[in-house]
Amino acid sequence: MSTTGDHLIELRRDLHRHPEPAWREFYTTCRIVEELERIGVTDIYVGREAIDPDERMAVPDSSELVEWFARAREAGAKEDVLDRLDGGYTGCVAVLRQGEGPTVGLRVDIDGLLREESRADEHAPVAEGFRSEHEGAMHACGHDGHATIGLGVLEAIKESDFEGTLKVFFQPGEEMIAGGRAIAKSSHLADVDYLLALHLGLDHPTGEVVAGIDGFLAVAHLHVEFSGEPAHAGAAPNEGENAVQAMATAVGNLYAIPRHQDGATRVNAGQVGGGTASNIVPESAYIEAEVRGETTELMEYMRERAERVLHGAAEMHGCEVEIETRGRAPSARSDAQLAEIVSAVAGGVEGVDSVLDRDTLGGSEDATYLMREVQRNGGYAAYVGIGTDHPGGHHTATFDVDERSIPIGIDVISGAIREIAATRPE
Ligand SMILES: [Zn+2]
Repeated sequence: MSTTGDHLIELRRDLHRHPEPAWREFYTTCRIVEELERIGVTDIYVGREAIDPDERMAVPDSSELVEWFARAREAGAKEDVLDRLDGGYTGCVAVLRQGEGPTVGLRVDIDGLLREESRADEHAPVAEGFRSEHEGAMHACGHDGHATIGLGVLEAIKESDFEGTLKVFFQPGEEMIAGGRAIAKSSHLADVDYLLALHLGLDHPTGEVVAGIDGFLAVAHLHVEFSGEPAHAGAAPNEGENAVQAMATAVGNLYAIPRHQDGATRVNAGQVGGGTASNIVPESAYIEAEVRGETTELMEYMRERAERVLHGAAEMHGCEVEIETRGRAPSARSDAQLAEIVSAVAGGVEGVDSVLDRDTLGGSEDATYLMREVQRNGGYAAYVGIGTDHPGGHHTATFDVDERSIPIGIDVISGAIREIAATRPE
């Protein structure tokens, strides 16, 4: 492997040691900026300059932000950059202007997940000494690899004969579907003619590339709070208004929303809670729920019905209900014009032995905000899958990426970007 290759693997492992969830990517953003400066990219937007600050979703409370900010400082994050991220304005946009030509965008996500990483000796990050240093957080979806690929692509394009502008969006908060909209609504996307996004793994092995992924389910995360009236459960139950009953009524009925003739829908009440003791009529309860749909319209159908159920359940038990949408993403489609280019380029990349033109994701992704924005402005977008052997499934404690897929990802994406600029597909 080249010196650059070694360096990028070290970088990926450094990011892996410091997984940071939505709007807490302080160390990560600082490391990315350090690398951009090493590469010689001068046009760098961080913090409020990188996003529309009013469009962030699922922002954690300030004590949480302060704690992660301090951790990043302790880990040695670059002070001048760190200060500009204060308040949870993480993420970064890097712009490389290299002569006359189209503007090509690349979106990579950079956040980690709130879950514990495996301590098993056979888990490579343990064996090789780069397991998560943040207890309860982990890069369990490969976004450490995505950030690394984004930087590798910038470096490769800078050294190439590419003519045009390359913008790389290092997006925070994908896992909570919290950051895509803030990037999409920033001014940086307005002039993007072509957009690529990528993901490692997705059950495709190292050496396999999927040129255009479709089938993103539109999704909304709902945080629901019921409030009632407390009372003594023995002496005066009739004086209470039971929030847990309202919650329980709602959960059962959320799953009773009729299916839709136009396509697939989903609903899940993934986390619930309420009350304080067995002898008190509970005055508060909550549900963390989500709805999904094959199209944005189908997701909206589920959301409207879910809201009706939640209000009805509250009414039935004399409670109030507050519903807050904490994360959201539309559906999207990859454009064939771009997928064809990715497919042709990938076939000639060393280490690639299988190219699939299409596959469906079956999950959700907020890159769809960026894809739709570019398509709405008359541009084209595609979501590319870069296979990687992963010992555990995505989001599990033993997930890891095969580092051989990182240079493959860089070659496929940078090759496709050069070909897009050269041929300007319509
Ligand atoms: Zn992911």
